[in-house]
Amino acid sequence: MPKPLPPLIWRHWLLIAVAIWIGIAPATGTAGFASSELKISQYSARAPTLRVYLYANADPVGIFDPSGKFGIGELMLVESVIGTIAGMAVPSISTAGPTGFVVDGINYYSEWPIGSQGRINIGRAITIAHSMLRNAIKDLSSIYQSATASAAYQYYFGNYDAVRVNKVKTNFEAIRAKLDCGKLTFRSLTKGSPEYDPGRSGSNRVVAWVRGSEPNMVNLQPLFWASESEESAATFIHEISHLVANTDDALGYDERLLHRHAKFSPANAIRTASNYERYAMKFYP
Ligand SMILES: [Zn+2]
Repeated sequence: MPKPLPPLIWRHWLLIAVAIWIGIAPATGTAGFASSELKISQYSARAPTLRVYLYANADPVGIFDPSGKFGIGELMLVESVIGTIAGMAVPSISTAGPTGFVVDGINYYSEWPIGSQGRINIGRAITIAHSMLRNAIKDLSSIYQSATASAAYQYYFGNYDAVRVNKVKTNFEAIRAKLDCGKLTFRSLTKGSPEYDPGRSGSNRVVAWVRGSEPNMVNLQPLFWASESEESAATFIHEISHLVANTDDALGYDERLLHRHAKFSPANAIRTASNYERYAMKFYP
């Protein structure tokens, strides 16, 4: 008689199944999209070090079955983060017309109702994203030349393989090119907006999303404005990777699963938006 699988194995399979289900299942609750339209949402599971999202990330099962208790403690934390951001020095940013603004010498656009503070927050995140991308691409060049994976690469993309390293590097270069294309537009969705994505079961935990038919548009949801600048930078990298590198969220957002796939299935890891996001975050100073 065959021995039953140890419970631990079942547990892993359950988590993997959950992640796959999260990734494959379409975003819910937003009526009016053509079914063929690519629409990729980013839910709020983040690295455990990111305090705003600690709740979901500490409990991967909670990502698809939230308690609905976005606790008052967290709400207060979010408000204090917003207060901190508002009190920080304004980065190098200027207006360029009614809907345009300039960050690091590049034009960006916003759709109502992103005000001046919102543009400052976006500008700060873009500057950080530039730094993350520059350092990530430097790391990838060095890996390619030395044929040796860095610790960060190994953690998120697996063992050294020339073809894969080159692919990841090409993708990061495409992400940077999109960020710098001078056409990128940010749309702020509120709960009343027709395109607001309430998330799975109305959890309201979608941070941002993009779709293939709007290749220069990044849709920002209310949670985005509660993120810290480096999280927002990572969100931009995540979303833009969908647009330019055909990444998906099939492996989910959970740190442990992302690493597990880098280790055992690097071909999948290099197709996953969150692996790019987390790898880039390793280069935040
Ligand atoms: Zn995504």
